[in-house]
Amino acid sequence: MRYVSTRGTAPAIGFREATLTGLASDGGLYLPDAWPTMSPAEIGALAGLSYAETAVRVMLPFVGDDLAEAELRQLCEAAYGRFSHAAVTPLVQIDHQHWLLELFHGPTLAFKDVALQLLGLLFERFLAGTNQHLTIVGATSGDTGSAAIDAVAGRDGVDIFMLHPVGRVSDVQRRQMTTVLAPNVHNIAIEGDFDTAQALVKAMFNDRAVADRFSLSAVNSINWARLMAQVVYYFYAAVRLGAPEGRVAFSVPTGNFGDVFAGYVASRMGLPIQRLIVATNVNDILHRAIASGDYSKGSVQQTATPSMDIQVSSNFERLLFDAGGRDGRALAQQMAEFERTGVMRLTNAQSEGHAGLLSSDRVDAHAMTGAMRWAFSQAGEVIDPHTAVALAAARRAGLDVPVVTLATAHPAKFPDAVEQATGGRPALPARVGDLFDREERFVTLPATYDAVSAYICERAVPSA
Ligand SMILES: *Cc1c(COP(=O)(O)O)cnc(C)c1O
Repeated sequence: MRYVSTRGTAPAIGFREATLTGLASDGGLYLPDAWPTMSPAEIGALAGLSYAETAVRVMLPFVGDDLAEAELRQLCEAAYGRFSHAAVTPLVQIDHQHWLLELFHGPTLAFKDVALQLLGLLFERFLAGTNQHLTIVGATSGDTGSAAIDAVAGRDGVDIFMLHPVGRVSDVQRRQMTTVLAPNVHNIAIEGDFDTAQALVKAMFNDRAVADRFSLSAVNSINWARLMAQVVYYFYAAVRLGAPEGRVAFSVPTGNFGDVFAGYVASRMGLPIQRLIVATNVNDILHRAIASGDYSKGSVQQTATPSMDIQVSSNFERLLFDAGGRDGRALAQQMAEFERTGVMRLTNAQSEGHAGLLSSDRVDAHAMTGAMRWAFSQAGEVIDPHTAVALAAARRAGLDVPVVTLATAHPAKFPDAVEQATGGRPALPARVGDLFDREERFVTLPATYDAVSAYICERAVPSA
């Protein structure tokens, strides 16, 4: 399996390299050169398997020769052994048609653990026995940061620099990052919003002087291995609801389009997905892009769902590439134009390439709160605001197949919004219970490239 860039000029690379790097040298994102497929018989054979074993079967074609099957199995068992539920990602039924897929039973209580626990182990495995030192630089709107830090804290050969927008992540989210005091963990609060922080990280990756000195790596969802790990739970859930004979729909609370793109990959691999609902909050660039082909930036509005408060959605480029016929050079021009003007029209090929599979919805605060109340009154389920955005969209979609809403965070990560909607304040699970007594460590920097790059270059370890 080889990985190619969405912008057409960077050379193709293998799985190990795609895991250890971030952006391709032409500014694009890596994707497999062709989708592996699973036959209905192979999908049917997943029924009854453990999560870790499902992960091995689904991911094996993607790792190529870089990992033996037994090694992959060992890593999956270690990564998913750290989850607090034996099913890893259990399904919970709300009514005759709606299910929640609970993706928040990992160490930091959000779905990002599902991919990042594995990614931390892949980094360690691929760096062992080399003298390569990895410098992870990332931006987070909350959950990626804590999950990535948990996954690499204290590991050899890796430093992590994590930027978060000051004041725009919840107290639980911030403390889950800043109370990890391992010497290889560096938290930076940026005086700006998430898109600004993400743009600073992108600028570092595009700075040749920095890229030549350090082995920069990405843990945000531009990293292919993360998306690959997320493909697994679409298979795991669909098989339990009747696939491959029966069709299933998924509703996905969407920010950077990583989670929903993993569902798109599952569909390309042969999983019979009836519909993937791209659910946004009022920051609706993706809803406009899916519904009417209009991908143009507005300004970010703060909502109760900070992990979806974005305007530029990095993984959308992967959809544009794959659905639009994989013309990297044309996409490079389209993206350059978007970066210049902030405006893009999807081509007919790009829109037709996802038509029938993707739909979208924009969910405001009122509808989100309504979905939280409905889940509670219907089934006694307390859900987080991000999950509620997707559940609201799922209920409005008018489908006649089982609909699985991805429950992306534990409600205790967003206690204020939950309390406002349901009147009850969710408690933090015991395993993170002393979070508010722990010491915090972070620096605050202005949102300028000079300040951030200087801070990181002073502390990072050169590659070799
Ligand atoms: C990251 C995140 C999302 C958005 O996921 P993307 O892959 O960026 O689309 C939604 N909900 C929660 C709780 C998240 O942490």
